[in-house]
Amino acid sequence: MKQNRTITIGHKNPDTDSIISAMITAFYSEKIFGVKSIANRAGEINNETKFVLSFLPKTTKIKIPRLLKEVKQEKVILVDTTEPSQLIDGINENNLFAIIDHHNLGGLKSMAPIYARVEPLGCACSIIYKILKEKKIKISKEAAILMIAAIISDTLFFNSPTTTDEDKKIVKELNKIAKLNLKKFSDEMFKAKSSLKGIKTGEIIEKDYKFFQMGKNRVGVGVWETVDSASIIEKKEEIFKILLNKKSRDNLEYLFFGVVDILKENISLFLLGEKEENLARQIFKKEIKNKVMFLPGIVSRKKQIVPQLKKVLS
Ligand code: MN
Ligand code: MN
Repeated sequence: MKQNRTITIGHKNPDTDSIISAMITAFYSEKIFGVKSIANRAGEINNETKFVLSFLPKTTKIKIPRLLKEVKQEKVILVDTTEPSQLIDGINENNLFAIIDHHNLGGLKSMAPIYARVEPLGCACSIIYKILKEKKIKISKEAAILMIAAIISDTLFFNSPTTTDEDKKIVKELNKIAKLNLKKFSDEMFKAKSSLKGIKTGEIIEKDYKFFQMGKNRVGVGVWETVDSASIIEKKEEIFKILLNKKSRDNLEYLFFGVVDILKENISLFLLGEKEENLARQIFKKEIKNKVMFLPGIVSRKKQIVPQLKKVLS
């Protein structure tokens, strides 16, 4: 019997980790899972990831993921998410083959037994590194650079509370192969991440947007990570207009958008209406100025915003 092809893919609105986890897992797939797989992506590549991919030599065998709209016949290796609402169409209990993730389990099911590696680390690439190490698979220099970039991106260079000691140790080990100046590399990555080049205001709220079902509530939370929060906050009025449209178009009960200042480690939370304001007041207990709540020390949607919203709304 002919085997179905296997693809590797992460979440919609892919961040650097979702792209690179898919690339690395696909590249080493035969050694990890015993099957070949092809790297795919569930959306456009962002400016930070583009910068990182520019480090790949032309001769590399690590493939840049192809855009995929829907899974048809393929078996799926899922990386960096298990949240059904963040997947492209066609991924279901019949074609799920493996999972590598570092988020909460989002409710996926499978008919067949699957490979699943889920750990509460700062980045899916940290887990992939552990798998490669356990299997004694030699990591190439370019793979090491990519994985370091994903870990720096997800952990905001170890400043996010999602960071674990293991992530730091893994970057150290990877950098024996990659030999990067980590401080310089992360500065350049964050500059690229903050760049508004080629980005319309509407895309600012969509680039890193995630949808969550919380009890009966449909909730959207978008974030924009930047070293220049003023460049976004000055577009506040326009952003609120776009948020208002999105909220009704997507039929959401709540829609939040936060500007994360990576270096100063804070978030400016845009509060669209009374519902969002009341909920934010209840959870964070800070004052609201012109529909924005400033929250020092909060940088992680995954750890410092979504669980808190879920607790109240589910
Ligand atoms: Mn991600
Ligand atoms: Mn991740």
